[in-house]
Amino acid sequence: MKSFYHPNEALHHPKTYLSRGQMRPPQELPIRAAKLVEGFERMNRLLLEPKDHGLDAILNVHDAGYLDFLQTAWKEWTALGPDWGDEVMSNVYVRERNPLRGILGKTARYLADGSCPVGEHTWTSAYWAAQAAIAASHAVLAGDKRAFALCRPPGHHARRDAAGGFCYINNAAVAANVLQQRYAKIVILDTDVHHGQGVQEIFYDRSDVFYISVHADPTNFYPVVAGFEDETGTGAGLGFNLNLPMPHGSDESVFFNRLNTALKAIEAYQPDALVFCSGFDIYEEDPQSKVRVTTAGIERLAQQVSQLNLPMVIVQEGGYHYDTLPDNLAAFFKGLGV
Ligand SMILES: [Zn+2]
Repeated sequence: MKSFYHPNEALHHPKTYLSRGQMRPPQELPIRAAKLVEGFERMNRLLLEPKDHGLDAILNVHDAGYLDFLQTAWKEWTALGPDWGDEVMSNVYVRERNPLRGILGKTARYLADGSCPVGEHTWTSAYWAAQAAIAASHAVLAGDKRAFALCRPPGHHARRDAAGGFCYINNAAVAANVLQQRYAKIVILDTDVHHGQGVQEIFYDRSDVFYISVHADPTNFYPVVAGFEDETGTGAGLGFNLNLPMPHGSDESVFFNRLNTALKAIEAYQPDALVFCSGFDIYEEDPQSKVRVTTAGIERLAQQVSQLNLPMVIVQEGGYHYDTLPDNLAAFFKGLGV
């Protein structure tokens, strides 16, 4: 199975993380990429550098003004002088459209929460993470049964026009759109411990991309504003969004119960291809985890998804217990049987 990663994905280095009323040490750090790369080295698996496929596939998912902001915000912000912090972060939160006058107005619009600061290298890393997802999708379009994209920063919280939850470009959504060059019906299965509200939002009114997410209950847990069971799609997309939240503190059996429901829904939908959002923050020791999935459980998860026998692009999402990332990655690949 071809796997893709670009060293530029490790450049983004956030310094701020505001959550539940406290400034906290950031968790989505370059060491995540280093540990996942270490996992590949330990398995003696090759990581291929993605080619640069440009912006077209990213523009199919994201608002052009938002992408321009990601590319230019840090320069515009730091040019204002030493009174401004060394990364772009909003202290004003709005979801409504605003006139976008000034960098602070754009920041209020385009950064949805306190966990997605924009620094000098944020765009570069997010861009190359997306290129890894695009390259993996092209490998599957060219006939590979499966491909893996080591994406860092992750992507499933990125909305069409806003960053959030450590995410800037929605790698899974980009992959799904690229796969549609050949495969009409796509399922995005997301088993990261957080609901991917960005993916849900992007495909909410579409029946050709069915988003299915198994995640911890979003009540008082990120993304907070979405991920509940009664969100089932709208218009043509009604019935093609399935949220399967788990109570906080759930053990592995609850996770596999929800996964079983997800797999049955996939079989009933009969998709032509699958995008699998894999987050190791379901792991029991992860600082973000609200559930207790073991390393053996991660292997079993990969095995069960693999049995769907669909063309598949796997996109790396979260996972913040750095020391176990290599082992969990190895268990995941073992479960895939590749
Ligand atoms: Zn997550």
